[in-house]
Amino acid sequence: MELHTKTAHELRDMLRRREVSSVELTRDVMARINAAEPAVQAYVTVMGDEALRMAANADKALASGEPQADLAGIPLAIKDNMCTRGTLTTCSSKILSNFVPPYDATVVSRLRASKVVFTGKTNLDEFAMGSSTENSGIKKTRNPWDTSRVPGGSSGGSAAAVAAGMAIAATGSDTGGSIRQPASLCGIVGVKATYGLVSRYGLVAFASSLDQIGPMTRDVEDAAILLNALAGHDPMDSTSAKYTPPDYTSFLNKPIKGLRVGLPKEFFADGLDPEVRAAIDAAIKKLEELGAIPVEVELPHSKYAVATYYLCATAEASSNLGRYDGAQYGHRAEADNVVDMYCRTRAEGFGPEVKRRIMLGTYALSAGYYDAFYIKAMKVRTLIKGDFEKAFAKCDVIAGATAPTAAFKFGEKTDNPLEMYLSDIFTISVNLAGICGVSIPCGFTSGGLPIGLQLLAGPFEEGKLFTAAHAFEQATEWHTKRPPAISA
Ligand code: GLN
Repeated sequence: MELHTKTAHELRDMLRRREVSSVELTRDVMARINAAEPAVQAYVTVMGDEALRMAANADKALASGEPQADLAGIPLAIKDNMCTRGTLTTCSSKILSNFVPPYDATVVSRLRASKVVFTGKTNLDEFAMGSSTENSGIKKTRNPWDTSRVPGGSSGGSAAAVAAGMAIAATGSDTGGSIRQPASLCGIVGVKATYGLVSRYGLVAFASSLDQIGPMTRDVEDAAILLNALAGHDPMDSTSAKYTPPDYTSFLNKPIKGLRVGLPKEFFADGLDPEVRAAIDAAIKKLEELGAIPVEVELPHSKYAVATYYLCATAEASSNLGRYDGAQYGHRAEADNVVDMYCRTRAEGFGPEVKRRIMLGTYALSAGYYDAFYIKAMKVRTLIKGDFEKAFAKCDVIAGATAPTAAFKFGEKTDNPLEMYLSDIFTISVNLAGICGVSIPCGFTSGGLPIGLQLLAGPFEEGKLFTAAHAFEQATEWHTKRPPAISA
């Protein structure tokens, strides 16, 4: 039986009916990892023995007769920028290549409490800076749909693992699109939650006012289940919202008759690949058939989103990454004096994109430039947020493409960082505004590459996303497709 191709909710039901044990399921996923990992390279660390121990524990809990969480016994991968006590957490950076955290991120401890089985830690662009996972300081992850192409990024390892059957679901983090864009390029579901909904405690910080953790799964129901496990107030994160999340599965299986779907013309402009555009147009038609009402909306400041993001994100990153000096943890270079030690540690430990961002951010924050760059970017950020507020007065959700193209080839955008930055053109304004979004599979290119539909909603309106995304998914077959090599 091909257990590793199933969804978490199907497997939950099988575990509860005792048709399969978590140990059997975990062995099946580990066998899949052994078979596919040489080609896909999704993991920095595979937690084979520990996964089996966690599975045996989950089986004990499931046999106890006590009620268990939906995800009890389900093999799930963790992006390698979330701290796991006793297990290497590298952020795919040489500077953290030996870092074993003494504590768990809040999301990790919440998943442990749900008796989730950890398959391992997944690869990412170094410090989550990138859109293709090519910036990883450890390895390059390949797209399971076509291994000559990137899986997207920065959560490329998580997306590839879920798509290839090497984990049933995974966590990702999204600062400017890092959950939604790889979900789109790998044909899975990815949710960027409202800023403050999921605790960032123990998430290695990139840009603290933008970073948000969320689910990466095979279908919308699994995303609702995983978000239930992740969301909720955490006193350990000062930006965590004092908000009691609803049960996100209660938003599934609802009609969308009368749902107003906002279509910003800025999301349908030049640069959108024609095949992607055709799939998005067809998806919107499908939503209309289901009773949704299209509404024209405007996001006039979205043309400044990429520039604004790359000022805010690099400024915050340059400050956050100041802590990696070799003195307390991580890589430490040999030197005769402390200043040389700092300099060499950072020169050896950080890759080129991370250095570029630290320099850009330091420049934007430096005396004389602060008002012209950083403060200006903060003002535009407020305008972008205002655009969404106005738009959501006229509609319930906004729809468009998650990414302007399907998965691109290795090396295609690495020579030109600006071109790489443009792959986030539809995702980053969402982080600047702090709102929520989802990417769901909505078609394929003629070359067989997945295309993602992005749906957005206002702050703490994840329920609307789940209702709309689930209705679309139930009326289509895209989410049932698996990369050729793994279809059973
Ligand atoms: N691709 C964007 C960047 O490079 C977003 C990354 C992310 O969301 N972590 O910054």
